Amino acid sequence: MTAQKKCPVCGKPAEIEFRPFCSKRCADVDLGRWFNESYVVPEPIDPETVIADDGEGDETIH
Ligand SMILES: [Zn+2]
Repeated sequence: MTAQKKCPVCGKPAEIEFRPFCSKRCADVDLGRWFNESYVVPEPIDPETVIADDGEGDETIH
């Protein structure tokens, strides 16, 4: 008996060859999602937020 897992992408029974996916296409789709997520910048860097006013430092620029 084989525990059939479902492809996380399309829900079809996964093929051993492409585990845990049902096909190379679905594996690529999942991989693409991964890359897309890693490409997304979590938070935009806001200079006003990064530069915290701690009262220190020179204030030559006014
Ligand atoms: Zn699939």
